[in-house]
Amino acid sequence: MSGFLQIKNVSNLRLQAQQNVLTQAEGSIKFGSRSYINGVEDACQMIENLIHEECGIFGIYGAKKAAELTYLGLYALQHRGQEGAGIVSSNGERIHQHKGSKEVNEVFFHKDILNKLKGNLAIGHNRYSTTGASSSVNVQPLLIKYKKGDLAVAHNGNLTNSYSLRIAMEKEGSIFQTTSDSEIILHLVARSKKDNVEEMIQDALLKVKGAFSLVFCTMDSLVAARDPHGFRPLALGRLKDAWVVASETCAFDIIGAKYERDIQPGEIAVINRNGIKSYFPFKSVRHAFCIFEFIYFARPDSIIFGDNVDKIRRRLGRQLAKEKPVNADIVISVPDSSNTATLGYCEESGIKYEVGLIRNHYIGRTFIEPEQKIRDLDARIKFNPVRGVLKDKKVVIVDDSIVRGTTSKKLIKMLRAAGATEVHFRVSSPPIISPCFYGIDMPTKEELVASSKSVDQIRKYLDVNTLGYLSLPGMLSMHSLDGRDFCVACFSGKYPTKIEANSGKYILENRC
Ligand code: SF4
Repeated sequence: MSGFLQIKNVSNLRLQAQQNVLTQAEGSIKFGSRSYINGVEDACQMIENLIHEECGIFGIYGAKKAAELTYLGLYALQHRGQEGAGIVSSNGERIHQHKGSKEVNEVFFHKDILNKLKGNLAIGHNRYSTTGASSSVNVQPLLIKYKKGDLAVAHNGNLTNSYSLRIAMEKEGSIFQTTSDSEIILHLVARSKKDNVEEMIQDALLKVKGAFSLVFCTMDSLVAARDPHGFRPLALGRLKDAWVVASETCAFDIIGAKYERDIQPGEIAVINRNGIKSYFPFKSVRHAFCIFEFIYFARPDSIIFGDNVDKIRRRLGRQLAKEKPVNADIVISVPDSSNTATLGYCEESGIKYEVGLIRNHYIGRTFIEPEQKIRDLDARIKFNPVRGVLKDKKVVIVDDSIVRGTTSKKLIKMLRAAGATEVHFRVSSPPIISPCFYGIDMPTKEELVASSKSVDQIRKYLDVNTLGYLSLPGMLSMHSLDGRDFCVACFSGKYPTKIEANSGKYILENRC
């Protein structure tokens, strides 16, 4: 790998990767060396920071003003993606759409926009995307016209075989309008030889690999689908006679819908005037629910994978206090995602909870900011220490995770400058050592501080008195599900699926 990393011309690196993928797609040549291709991928990813795929999806069938309810659902799911939002609706005769590269309330800034989205069927999407010219075309739902009429899709997750599928289709003459892997799904549906859209969607989804929670909108049906591993959550609910699906149940609460159950891993549910009909076309595989949803991503008031996020986060905090106790005066959280775990830590340790950091809520979440320059700026302006709370105190600070460590380091500096005499850092998850290929935006392996540093080295880097992470078994034992049902690849480096050399999440964006 190091030999390839010495090559300076990134275009050549990508070209080489692309050619290798192409030959693999043709079935003729296998990659000579796994590390060789990973080196190419890593080099490309270090230099480019491209598309991101944390998303929230919502769908509703059978409600008057479905678009209005979808707007509210997307509003509740705003934390899953802030740089693009869209709604597609159907009144049975025509498909309507509106989308834009902003937050939900800015995209749908006037009631007239929602009034034009007619019908009792709608799907919606929140997306995080890169800045730049190409981002607006990737905003979902993606809507196409094909031989059966109109079809729209909204996708949460990342496909791991998108590159080889797209190269193969482009070789056959397909033209793509976006750099989103979700468009590949629409192409596959449109190319299917099956008779009806339900079978065509099944046919298409059997060809894709990786993580997908999806909602489709046809002229008369809502289709919800979840990959057989079940990486991303997707819940099913009722609002009187209407059916609702959403990434998280907080989107049900805002419209008064009742959570019924999850869309099962491998389930394709077709919802229309005949009710709900489910298909299970996939081979049975191990479940791989993303545990990071519980740690950081989902809202604490949501139910995902059958468990209440708040309850699990509290348990994580309690377990952390059991595993990594410390003698201190106060415990503070890194707001907001760590608040609940911090309460758990306080309950178990008996140390007083204090609000020691104030967060400016008008700044985006640091973890998903796209560029180093912006991320560092965020760290400085996002939090402010409460001096009266911290002065002359031995402080435990609880965070849900450490990614690069740069933000944490700045926070520690702030706490010390505010008068904390000791700072003890506690993390309610294990060290993150590997990137995610299934739909959570993370930096490259090299940028993950724990991929190359020991806990003690990180402690020194952060300049804290003590540093303690939650153990992997401790984290897994907090759930009502069996620990083997979860994906923990970013903590273990063991991926539940084969990661193809061409599955880097940015590969479709900047090809050469
Ligand atoms: S690698 Fe980590 S973030 Fe990605 S799906 Fe698995 S647990 Fe979630």
